[in-house]
Amino acid sequence: MDIEILPLTEKKPRIQDESQLGFGSLFTDRMFLMEYEEGRGWHSPRIAPYAPFSLDPACAVLHYAQEIFEGLKAFRRQDGEIALFRPLDNFERFNRSARRMCMPEIEPAFALKALKQLLQLEADWIPRSEGTSLYIRPTMIATDPYLGVRPSLKYLFYIILSPVGAYYKGGFSPVKIWISDEYVRSTPGGTGEAKTGGNYAASLRASMEATAKGFDQVLWLDAVERKYVEEVGSMNICFLYDGKVITSPLKGTILDGITRRSILNLIKDMGLEIEERALSVAEIIDGAESGRLKEAFGTGTAAVVSPVGEFTYRDKTVTIGDGEMGELTGKLYETLTGIQYGKVADRHGWVEKL
Ligand SMILES: *Cc1c(COP(=O)(O)O)cnc(C)c1O
Repeated sequence: MDIEILPLTEKKPRIQDESQLGFGSLFTDRMFLMEYEEGRGWHSPRIAPYAPFSLDPACAVLHYAQEIFEGLKAFRRQDGEIALFRPLDNFERFNRSARRMCMPEIEPAFALKALKQLLQLEADWIPRSEGTSLYIRPTMIATDPYLGVRPSLKYLFYIILSPVGAYYKGGFSPVKIWISDEYVRSTPGGTGEAKTGGNYAASLRASMEATAKGFDQVLWLDAVERKYVEEVGSMNICFLYDGKVITSPLKGTILDGITRRSILNLIKDMGLEIEERALSVAEIIDGAESGRLKEAFGTGTAAVVSPVGEFTYRDKTVTIGDGEMGELTGKLYETLTGIQYGKVADRHGWVEKL
């Protein structure tokens, strides 16, 4: 399939002050899109000016949430080159989400080619200051204008780009986490492993209550026993416990994070032992009090690693370590961002240059 490039009639003003960049509200001039129809497959791939869509009010995504997405970043490196981090992993995960949500798969190599072409055209939107990047959001929505409940026969796939500021502008501030035993994010047999909008819609209530109580994030427990750690906010979570790194296993209820995967690799490189098992709330509380739990951090594309300062469960709050970012957490952050920005050797072949 050849990608058509439609002319750009108007250019948005470029970012003047990169320190003012936030997350996810500013978009570049162009986007990639293509459509799918049952019997015809994917067609009409094109790069077009960024613009609102016109959708039928009956279309399936608006009623039954048949939607999936991805999140990755393009980095402007020290050597001036533009790089992506493990982009094929994102498109392969996109296809796993598609299968769960009864949506058509895309060809990962074609999606990557389309993304690279879009990035070539939008390269001057990639910010230059330390810690900034261009956030990439591939998305698929069901567009069939039909109210019957069944997988849609038509889909739209698109990629939009958003310049984002440095996540840690004022230095690292460890987050305060609320452990929720009232709300759950996902259930065995549910859609927790798919990157689908509905999981996020369902999580808003708990986040809102956590924010109102003065917490930064919600820690999700397993839906069955409400005892074991799953994820935190929209990040995977790791603990440094008795000198080992413990992280929840991939059993279908949590996202298979690409940052999680990469961090686990770096931990192995350091010679530390990893246990993929669900830590219990009791182990967090006892571990923090006895000092056996030294560090805790979330992992995800947006923050890379996010150090945890405190956990609160019911009326009990415990501090992790001295409440500051731990040594291992800091080292992992420096190494992974170093690989992304070209300051640390990419020994695993994770970086894909434009
Ligand atoms: C996207 C996401 C993650 C992190 O995945 P990365 O590939 O590391 O960005 C973790 N949990 C949830 C629920 C997510 O949606």
